[in-house]
Amino acid sequence: MLIRVDRIAHAQLDQPVGFRERRWSQTPGPEGLVIASEATEMSGIDGAMLSGEKAAHLVLGAH
Ligand SMILES: Cc1cc2nc3c(=O)[nH]c(=O)nc-3n(C[C@H](O)[C@H](O)[C@H](O)COP(=O)(O)OP(=O)(O)OC[C@H]3O[C@@H](n4cnc5c(N)ncnc54)[C@H](O)[C@@H]3O)c2cc1C
Repeated sequence: MLIRVDRIAHAQLDQPVGFRERRWSQTPGPEGLVIASEATEMSGIDGAMLSGEKAAHLVLGAH
């Protein structure tokens, strides 16, 4: 039995149709800056962890 629903504003990034084509790039920026964020993948812990793993590979120069 459902007791209650709490809707948390901004708990996730907006992900409208086509958002994957507009995600932030992980290409290293000025001074080798690499972004690790859900914003480069998809909103949620899974996206954040995947982005972090990719960022680590970029920083370490692995492919
Ligand atoms: C209430 C709530 C419930 C959630 N539940 C789930 C769930 O059940 N499952 C799930 O998959 N996801 C859930 N999420 C989403 C999940 O928390 C995020 O997708 C995830 O934390 C994103 O990780 P991130 O590293 O990209 O960003 P964040 O975790 O937001 O980390 C960004 C960090 O950067 C820091 N920061 C910001 N600006 C600066 C600055 N200028 N200088 C230095 N540091 C800065 C912030 O303090 C923060 O520590 C939930 C989110 C909320 C709000």
